[in-house]
Amino acid sequence: MKTLGLIGGMSWESTAIYYRLLNEIVRERLGGLHSARLLLWSFDFAEIAERQHAGDWQGAGVLLIDVARKLESAGAEGLLICTNTMHKLADAVQAAVSIPLIHIADATAVAVRGAGVNRPALLATRFTMEQEFYKGRLTDTYGLQPVVPDQAGRDMVHRVIYEELCQGVVTGESKAAYIDEIARMRRDEKIDGVIMGCTEITMLIGQQDFDIPVFDTTRIHAEAAVGFALG
Ligand code: GLU
Repeated sequence: MKTLGLIGGMSWESTAIYYRLLNEIVRERLGGLHSARLLLWSFDFAEIAERQHAGDWQGAGVLLIDVARKLESAGAEGLLICTNTMHKLADAVQAAVSIPLIHIADATAVAVRGAGVNRPALLATRFTMEQEFYKGRLTDTYGLQPVVPDQAGRDMVHRVIYEELCQGVVTGESKAAYIDEIARMRRDEKIDGVIMGCTEITMLIGQQDFDIPVFDTTRIHAEAAVGFALG
């Protein structure tokens, strides 16, 4: 089994989910006392979120690249950036190390296409919903047509991620707001699936809340990583 290096803490709420999933999936595949071989770097998320909101992606890149190199020299054989948003820096991180980066959007796109979904809603941070690094990859490499909420919907989804989920707060009110937004997008935009394109959204909603396919990027990424680790 290969050792995975996790660039985590963005936020730790979802890194904790990654840690459990990676170990559970290895146990499901290998049985007994087997568990994942992991190296984890967990950032103080305040330092990252501050740079995101200031548009200082270059500064955030310096931090991520430094950690990627540390994980590689500590023995990691594959890397995971444990957030969708910070995949904005995936190419720069990949270029700085010689081990492969397992890309969350690639794993997600393969799952979406495999389910026969073409026009998924993309619920994520404002950065992921409004910039091209993620949507562009889904469109250009995989031929998908991701649809994002309207301005009010994007503001709501983003606010819930940073002010609630990343701080461990899960409310029925926000859950209802996410479900309502998907219902509206289904009616107005003819979406045929939902990408939970932020690794904390799995704390709030899931497949049980919808009757169209839902793609949990945290789980999909963890499954791809274990696939890599176990070859
Ligand atoms: N974990 C979230 C994501 O998957 C949001 C926090 C962050 O900006 O990293 O995008």
